[in-house]
Amino acid sequence: MPLNKSWVTSANDAHHPFPLNNLPYGVFSDGDAPPRCGVAIGDMILDLQAAETAGIIQLGSERLFEMPFWNEFMEEGPAVWAALRERLTALLQVGARDQKRIEPFLVHTKDAELHMPFMVSEFTDYYAGRHHATNVGSMFRGPENALPPNWLHIPIGYNGRASSVVVSGTDVRRPWGQIKGAEDDTPRWAPCSRFDIELEMGAIVGTPSDGPITVQEADDHIFGYVLLNDWSARDIQAWEYHPLGPFQSKATATSISPWIVTKAALEPFRCNTPAREVELLEHLWDCGPMLYDIDLSVSLRPEGGTDEILARTNYREMYYSAAQQLAHHTTSGCPMNPGDLLGSGTISGPDKTQRGSLLELSWGGQDPITLASGETRSFLEDGDTLTLRGEARGDGYTIGFGECTGTVTPALDDPYAR
Ligand code: CA
Repeated sequence: MPLNKSWVTSANDAHHPFPLNNLPYGVFSDGDAPPRCGVAIGDMILDLQAAETAGIIQLGSERLFEMPFWNEFMEEGPAVWAALRERLTALLQVGARDQKRIEPFLVHTKDAELHMPFMVSEFTDYYAGRHHATNVGSMFRGPENALPPNWLHIPIGYNGRASSVVVSGTDVRRPWGQIKGAEDDTPRWAPCSRFDIELEMGAIVGTPSDGPITVQEADDHIFGYVLLNDWSARDIQAWEYHPLGPFQSKATATSISPWIVTKAALEPFRCNTPAREVELLEHLWDCGPMLYDIDLSVSLRPEGGTDEILARTNYREMYYSAAQQLAHHTTSGCPMNPGDLLGSGTISGPDKTQRGSLLELSWGGQDPITLASGETRSFLEDGDTLTLRGEARGDGYTIGFGECTGTVTPALDDPYAR
């Protein structure tokens, strides 16, 4: 499908992240006005609450944009999702009959502040990137035992904290924690000195389920995707993760990009999961292309410095799709709700320049990376700003995600000091 042209001319640039083909959903505010739902089109945001109030957008009898988050709309399901996309396309495309009626409801993005686009019901994070799991496993257990025996059969995950998910632009404070001593198993209480990023995608569950669902059904339940940075305290993690997995090391913050890119916008970029080394049990079989060809990058800007790319990778490097992860999540009968967020797991590629964490890029600190300024990094320093970017490239247009950024602020003084 080629570029779909809009009368909002900035949306027609082949490299602009928000053409009419995209229509990503967010929550914004401007001036003294309260946060409300909007859709990005070029350099503008269409105020959906105002457009609904004016009667220009009406999907059934109920009002869907009274609240400043997308959960109520998501819960309506695929037919309503498609109806809104169709209506927005008709309103914003070149030659739209209602252009004059809708123009007053556009706000310049530069005048807007972006907020959490949805209320995160629950957050689950996976460990489903083959290259990442192999790299990390090699570092901790040796290359022969890199992948645990279950890895090729299930997407390994853990239940995280919805309360720690923050929108792009939120500062992230370096945590304190228990850290294993260098000599023996006596821990000490200290600020994290191995603070790290994880470049991931987040899948957002749109419609509820109550019981096991298939991979195809799981795909139907997914509303859209965001970029996700799962901030990780590696020294805290190394001490705490036996035997129940990560806990406080992953609870400081997880940042997401402010725009939900819908599954509909990503449809032309679907691709297959990689070849299976071991056949999956039938309930997790692939049933069509469920990954997406999305170029991803992570960059670092030291305090007062310039932004520099650390790594580039692609979402198609995942071993398991979000649909497989969601299907697996429900196998026990676990109910899923609108607004549930599933982190893909760190997305690394096969090459050294494609690694989605500093743990891998610096190989556990053994091989620090050198920035253009000459500074080196094994892990994050205070004042570092990290930015994830993602885009799918179509025929004359780009589907962008907007940036997912966050700055590391210094640890507090010892919160337990007497
Ligand atoms: Ca993670």
